[in-house]
Amino acid sequence: MSTSPASPPARLSIRSRLAVGVGRAVAGASRLVHFGTGSVIGGRASLLVDSNLLRKLTAHRDVVIVSATNGKTTTTRMLSAALETTGPVVSNSLGANMTPGIIAALGPTALTEPAVLEVDERWVGSVLDATGAQTLLLLNLSRDQLDRSQEVRKLAQHWKTAIGQALPGCVIANADDPLVVWAAVDAPDVTWVATGQDWTSDAAGCPACSGRIEFDRSSWHCTGCDLQRPTPDIVWDDSTITIDDRTIDLELGLPGRANRANAAFAIAAACRLGAQPEAAARAVETVTEVAGRYRVASLDGVSIRLLLAKNPAGWHEALEHLAPRPAPVIVAINARIADGHDPSWLWDVDFERLGGRFVVALGERRHDLAVRLRYADVEHVIAETLDEALLLVAGSPHHDPERAVDIAANYTAFQEYLDRVGGPE
Ligand SMILES: [Zn+2]
Repeated sequence: MSTSPASPPARLSIRSRLAVGVGRAVAGASRLVHFGTGSVIGGRASLLVDSNLLRKLTAHRDVVIVSATNGKTTTTRMLSAALETTGPVVSNSLGANMTPGIIAALGPTALTEPAVLEVDERWVGSVLDATGAQTLLLLNLSRDQLDRSQEVRKLAQHWKTAIGQALPGCVIANADDPLVVWAAVDAPDVTWVATGQDWTSDAAGCPACSGRIEFDRSSWHCTGCDLQRPTPDIVWDDSTITIDDRTIDLELGLPGRANRANAAFAIAAACRLGAQPEAAARAVETVTEVAGRYRVASLDGVSIRLLLAKNPAGWHEALEHLAPRPAPVIVAINARIADGHDPSWLWDVDFERLGGRFVVALGERRHDLAVRLRYADVEHVIAETLDEALLLVAGSPHHDPERAVDIAANYTAFQEYLDRVGGPE
């Protein structure tokens, strides 16, 4: 990754430098009063001073955008690790993935340093336009926060329009997600990555003709038009990834099928950007925790592991990560703004898979969860607090003190427990 030798010298105007300085000062003040990291409010303050700051901060960089409903934070982290094998890389690693958060991440860095940016699904068009990113990773689209997010087909249309207008030189897209394929198929250069897709419930209708998408074991096609799974360029198969006829073994530090898919995208993108496949794979293997997800810690003498799941597709993957039956599990659901106020998605998650283990329902919407578990015929109790939940699992018949108890939580519940746990041990 390099800037063209013909590029003008990388320098910010006085106004832009002032904007960066104001953002830093506001973020610092926000941190002082314990108002989070301050990155978003600092970025907003910067934009008030210079509304074109993102364009200026990225004018001399190679920029990669990573977007998806699920997996974008992890994939961004993995891709950063893989690209760091070729030199320094900047990323919005705190997960603030709209323009203010991105500005806050980029502001203090060298203006020519390549940037790997996690971008909210709804912001892909504006960030693509402002940054002129030449590389775009599109992982998946599924329902998320029913009362806040757009319907998935609208998001696919947004991506399709954004690609049509910006024409990024390299799109790396999921061959197994019909919505992503439809959005990316007209891009000038697409690398199709196949990792298998368990969750197909949000892609039953064709985004092109509203016909029915038919899935079989390893492929899919529309029964009403010619939209179909493209021939993949890069294939993930169990514990290997095949790129350019080279097969590389992978032993990831993160569990589950979804993280294998994230790794495949990260390695594919890193290779397109000049990293060596072996070096990229080894770097991706070193990622063991992303923003507290999968963190193992001890609370009240009980060993726990934190899992994050935010929407039906995310829960589908999270349930796969749980310690094997009959290990007990704590499931926590909130319904604040950041979670989406509408928890009716609980009925779209296959909680029947928790059968055969002791489940503690926790969080502000524990009673909604308990009703769902009752219909799923899953043995469960309700806990008012995390401490009570830990006491209940510690006293349950199949608790193994040598094994971490999984706490699967949605967004704000997860953040609350992560704060309680503190930094990595
Ligand atoms: Zn169709």
